[in-house]
Amino acid sequence: MSDCVFCRIVRKEIPAQILLETEEVLAFKDINPVAPRHILLIPKKHISSVMDPQLPTSPQLTAELFSAIQQLMAEAKDGFRVVINRGAHAGESVPHLHLHLLSGRELAWPPG
Ligand code: IMP
Repeated sequence: MSDCVFCRIVRKEIPAQILLETEEVLAFKDINPVAPRHILLIPKKHISSVMDPQLPTSPQLTAELFSAIQQLMAEAKDGFRVVINRGAHAGESVPHLHLHLLSGRELAWPPG
């Protein structure tokens, strides 16, 4: 989508601190981190949310998402959290599927 902020990051039209890029996924630092290490992991293709009827899409995308989590979190020896916010009650604000990868501090449970 032309005006989607994450699609614009994929197209390198706006800057981002990119940590990993594969054929199907991109990972970059969140602009407003809520943990010492806060990474966003997205499909490069525009998928609007976890409830998008396009999902489940290609097995390659699923494999690349989980492989990226393993690579990006390999150093998070004390643990990490993977979050998908969906809907107003969860605070979803960008309509392009994204996984938050949070680490570097103790994370409360249940989440606030
Ligand atoms: P949501 O609230 O779960 O939809 O998460 C959206 C996330 O995108 C938030 O944590 C924002 O800080 C982050 N974000 C929004 N715009 C940008 C950007 O341009 N670069 C990096 N992160 C962004």
